[in-house]
Amino acid sequence: EGEDGDAEIRELDAATIDRIAAGEVVERPASVVKELVENALDADATRIEVEVAGDGTDELVVRDDGVGMTRADAEVAVERHTTSKIRDATDLARVGTLGFRGEALHTIAAVSRLTVTTKPRGGRGTEVRVVGGDVDAVGPAGRAPGTTVAVRDLFYNTPARRAFLNAESTEFGHVNRTVSRYALANPDVAVSLEHDGTETFATPGDGDVRSALLAVYGRDVAASMIAVDAAPDRTLERVEGYVSHPETTRSTRDYLATYVNGRYVSDRLLREAIVEAYGTQLAADRFPFAVLDVELPPSEVDANVHPRKMEVRFEDEPGVRAAVTDAVRDALREHGLVRTSAPRG
Ligand code: ADP
Ligand code: MG
Repeated sequence: EGEDGDAEIRELDAATIDRIAAGEVVERPASVVKELVENALDADATRIEVEVAGDGTDELVVRDDGVGMTRADAEVAVERHTTSKIRDATDLARVGTLGFRGEALHTIAAVSRLTVTTKPRGGRGTEVRVVGGDVDAVGPAGRAPGTTVAVRDLFYNTPARRAFLNAESTEFGHVNRTVSRYALANPDVAVSLEHDGTETFATPGDGDVRSALLAVYGRDVAASMIAVDAAPDRTLERVEGYVSHPETTRSTRDYLATYVNGRYVSDRLLREAIVEAYGTQLAADRFPFAVLDVELPPSEVDANVHPRKMEVRFEDEPGVRAAVTDAVRDALREHGLVRTSAPRG
C-alpha cells in the first residue's frame, strides 16, 4: 500500500444521507401516518381519512380538507428542511403547530414513491410525484380543496428497514393506535381509518371526547370511562381527560394515551402516574385506558428532545407526577372506585 493511496474516508452522497436520516424519522408505516396526520391537523382539516393496505408498505393514503397548497408550495414542500411553520430558530420557542422541522415529507419521499395532490381554497389543484426523493412529475390535478398524500412502496430502496418490520397485524396495530391518539385528542375533527377497504373506526368530529371514545374503543370501554378534570396549581394548570374503570383494562400500556398541551407524548412518567392512582384496584399486569392531557406553561416543559417529537422533559418531574396521580385518584374516588385513605388524627 503506497502512502498516497485512495482515502478510506469518503463523503456520502446526498441520496445515501437522506436514506440514513429517513431511518430516524420513518421507522415504520405508523411513523408515516403520524407525520401525515399531524400535517393535516396543522392545515386545519375538519376531516381526515387514513387508508392503509396490508402492513402499510404497499399503500398508505392520508386525505384532508385542510388549507391545501399552491403549486409552488407543493413543489417546495417535498424538499428537505422546508416548512411554512417557522422561519428561524427564534420562532422555535413558540411553535404552536405539531410539525416544524420541515423534514417529514422529504424524508418519507426519500424512501417511497410519494404523490401529493393538493388544492388551496380558491386556487388550482396540483399533483407532485416523487420517487425515492426525486421529483418525477408535476402537473395540474382536479380535486376539492385540501391535500392527499399517497405513499406507495415504502422502504422499497431501504431493504434493511423493510426487513425489520413485523407482521401485518402488528404494523397495522401501530397505525391504529397512532390514528386513535390523534382522533381522541381532536374530537372536533372527523377522523377515519380504513384497512384493506374495511372501516376500522370513524369519529363524528362533533367536539365531544366521549363520541370519539365510543367510535375508537366501542361501547363497553367508552361507557366505563370516568372524567378527570383538575386544576392543581400554577405549574400544572390542568389535568383533563378520561380514565377507565379499574376493571376495564388491557395487558399492555398501549391504551394509556397521554398528551402535553394537546400534543400526544409517549411519556413513562405520565403513564406511571396514572397507573399509580389505581393502587391495588388494578389486577397484576393489567393497565387501564386513558386519554389524559396535562396543561403546563411552555417554560415548564421541553418538547424538543427527540426527532420524533414524542417525548418531553418536565422541569418539576415529582410535582407533575404527584399532581397527575392525585387528579386521577380524585376522579376514581368520586365514583367510589378507590379506597379513601383512613382519616388522620
Ligand atoms: P413540517 O410539518 O415540519 O413543516 P413537513 O415536511 O411535514 O414539515 O411539511 C412541509 C410543509 O408542507 C409544511 O410546513 C406545510 O406548509 C406543507 N404541508 C405538508 N402537508 C400539508 C397538508 N396536509 N396540508 C397543507 N400543507 C401541507
Ligand atoms: Mg409535518
